[in-house]
Parts: sequence; C-alpha cells; structure tokens
Amino acid sequence: MTFEGKTVEDHVMYNIMESMMNTFENTSLERIRKCNHEECKLYFVDTSKSGKRRWCSMELCGNRKKAAEFYSKQKK
Ligand SMILES: [Zn+2]
Repeated sequence: MTFEGKTVEDHVMYNIMESMMNTFENTSLERIRKCNHEECKLYFVDTSKSGKRRWCSMELCGNRKKAAEFYSKQKK
C-alpha cells in the first residue's frame, strides 16, 4: 500500500480534501443545500437532474421524516 501522507490520518484527510475540492469544482454553489430534516445539520450536493432533492440522504433523513409523518398521522 502507498500513502500520500505521513500517517494514515494524513492520508484520510488528504482524500477528504481532494474529494471536497472535486465537489466544489464540479458543482454550482446553488446545488449545495442544507438537509430539510429539522434535526439534521448536514449539507449535501443536489446531484439530481430535477434539483429537488431535500435530504442529505434519502435512506437516513428521507425515511426518518416519512416515518415521523406516518406516526404523527396515526396519533390523530
Ligand atoms: Zn439529513
């Protein structure tokens, strides 16, 4: 294995920085959104064609929100 940094931590940081730089180069700033989930503080890059993505992760926050709406409807 080869590492670009002196330590494994450096290597991980290097890769994170590099992927962040690539992200900013390839996306317009208006495509960077805050997640719509009120308890989530993450930002994401909307890579969908329609540009209507609302969640940092459909699997996490999308489903969490849907589940919360589902349970609040059940209570009433
Ligand atoms: Zn989220």
